[in-house]
Amino acid sequence: MAEVKLLRCRECAKEYQPSLKYVCEECFGPLDVVYDYEKISLRREDFSERPKSIWRYFELLPIANSSNIVNLEAGYTPLQKSVRLAEQIGLKELYIKNDTVNPTYSFKDRPAGIGVSKAVELQLDAVGCASTGNLAGATAAYAARAGIPCFVFIPHDIEKAKVTQALAYGAKILSIEGTYDDANRLAAQAAEAYRLGIVNINMRPYYTEGSKTLALEVSEQLGWQAPDHVIIPVGSGAMLHSICKGFEELVTIGLLDEVKTKITAAQPSGCAPIVDAFKRGETEVTPVESPNTIAKSLAIGEPGDGFYALKKIREYRGYADDATNQEIIEAVLLLARTEGIFAEPAGGVPIAVLKKLVEDGKIDRNEKVVCYVTGNGLKTPELLTEDLPTPSIVKPEVRALAPLIQR
Ligand SMILES: *Cc1c(COP(=O)(O)O)cnc(C)c1O
Ligand SMILES: [Zn+2]
Repeated sequence: MAEVKLLRCRECAKEYQPSLKYVCEECFGPLDVVYDYEKISLRREDFSERPKSIWRYFELLPIANSSNIVNLEAGYTPLQKSVRLAEQIGLKELYIKNDTVNPTYSFKDRPAGIGVSKAVELQLDAVGCASTGNLAGATAAYAARAGIPCFVFIPHDIEKAKVTQALAYGAKILSIEGTYDDANRLAAQAAEAYRLGIVNINMRPYYTEGSKTLALEVSEQLGWQAPDHVIIPVGSGAMLHSICKGFEELVTIGLLDEVKTKITAAQPSGCAPIVDAFKRGETEVTPVESPNTIAKSLAIGEPGDGFYALKKIREYRGYADDATNQEIIEAVLLLARTEGIFAEPAGGVPIAVLKKLVEDGKIDRNEKVVCYVTGNGLKTPELLTEDLPTPSIVKPEVRALAPLIQR
């Protein structure tokens, strides 16, 4: 397993021994996990016999002892070559990274799986999270698998199916009368007061390592090549930042020769602080006070990694754009009807933005594009009912079918 060499401040580069620390004592910058890259010797052929899950990349994951892994076999999800969708959008080569099919039906299995495993390794006896919905279910499931209590802080208005899912796994749900940012602040205080491993707060350096596997898998699935362009749905910005770290580490350890990938961020119009800052040419992200969007998974008004996500988008020569509720619904249906992949609104956002950027000529039709679709549509069925036809009511007689079955 991988020993974390140290934690390093993203701002001032001060180094710390690995522990439960997550902010720099000197400058309050976030800490990132650093491995002993010199000692990692991995060849492309080494992967043929490995488990088809995030754990196939254990040298780059922050768990020292394999007995601490809390495993639901997340990851290694399909990278679906999307011919019909590509045609509709006007691209030659498009792939959907289909993370709707993880064990808890979103990409949050990746960071939550690592976060809870690390909590076990650090001998914490309870975990939790602040969540826009999907992390609640994911953290709760891994806590159940580990046999430890889980405390979930959510804004009061998230989708019912997501609350039901987390409750089913046995989590204690704290539904906060406020926004995600309020829930997040309260969870941070709870982490201190009750020694909880809040996966996306005081476990954050480890937690974000899980999302990095989205870059490792895509590179491997493309035959150890980075795509020309990736489109990433963005809430806090943690996943986007981690995907960049993943590509960078593959170059560091020699599994990729180079990365020339453009990194583009997609946000919903009702909560697009990173897109707004990008379009205005600013380096700071101005918080959105009252997010208002059907893509609730992305409704983070004050994105924790917003500043760094913005920096990465520019460093990797990508774009940032947003999609309205109507565009999101159209994109969810387009994806479902061309590729057989049913996503929640947060999964429609990058599809809608991709379509727009191709129409605007910002993405060239010859670019090899990967679009990350990160959450499952079965969690948010109520959003579509208005846009879908009602089923035909039919008597059980074959002649009743004549007016109904037409091509
Ligand atoms: C949480 C979430 C995101 C955003 O991830 P961040 O790391 O907060 O940017 C995207 N899609 C889905 C489905 C999510 O649940
Ligand atoms: Zn610092």
